[in-house]
Amino acid sequence: MKGHIARKRFGQNFLVDSGIIGGIISAIDPQRGDTVVEIGPGLGAITVPLMARLDHLHVVEIDRDLIARLKRQHPPARMSIHEGDALAFDFASIGRDLRLVGNLPYNISTPLLFHLAEYVGVVRDMHFMLQKEVVERMVAVPGDGDFGRLSVMLQYRFHLEWLIDVPPESFDPPPKVQSAVVRLIPKDVAELTAKDMTQFSRIVQTAFAQRRKMLRNTLKGVLDDAGFAALGISPTLRPEDLAVEDYVRIANYLA
Ligand code: SAM
Repeated sequence: MKGHIARKRFGQNFLVDSGIIGGIISAIDPQRGDTVVEIGPGLGAITVPLMARLDHLHVVEIDRDLIARLKRQHPPARMSIHEGDALAFDFASIGRDLRLVGNLPYNISTPLLFHLAEYVGVVRDMHFMLQKEVVERMVAVPGDGDFGRLSVMLQYRFHLEWLIDVPPESFDPPPKVQSAVVRLIPKDVAELTAKDMTQFSRIVQTAFAQRRKMLRNTLKGVLDDAGFAALGISPTLRPEDLAVEDYVRIANYLA
């Protein structure tokens, strides 16, 4: 692996399948002046073909050995290297109209997606490789066993599109799980109808904290019988039965 030993703690599984890499680059379709930010460039599997089509690329990487390597290979005029943890990185510091891409470290993918969702206002689109099971949760619809907090919070802000299935053999070392590439495009501000994002987020979190229970129990002390009646939502439903809009309506009723 070009003299680098993959670090498990950083979720390092390097892409080696040129067909998949080509498919990801085509899906992103980078244009020279785009502000693209790659999370976890690693050994450059996506980085190098991206750079061939861009004037400049931003990367966020945590592994010091990989950072040293990137610095040797790419002059600052072509690449801005943001050293550190993507979970704590302020993406808005780079600018606006950002295009975020990455074969994400699977061990932090869910918290990272929640962190990235905060930057919806400065993002044009996102293309990510993730564990297939996570993509299934992202795109799940009400009634699915996979429909949960991640589905609601991402579908509220983004249009999601499942793009490419990727088998373990496409990586070195191969991960133990199947993977998939997904696209997220922020919705228009007009579509974001929650009056208070903190309230909305809190309701969704509370509802799904005990996903097997009825809403009457999970939202006890938050929404009373009169509230359920006013909203026309049955208190005997379970959290996975409500649509994203229902959570918005509950939050707005309480706001
Ligand atoms: N993009 C490369 C590829 O496709 O072959 C590497 C992908 S590898 C799955 C994940 C990358 O994210 C590694 O380079 C790893 O060092 C980096 N990484 C892991 N945790 C990170 C974090 N918290 N912040 C930023 N980068 C991280």
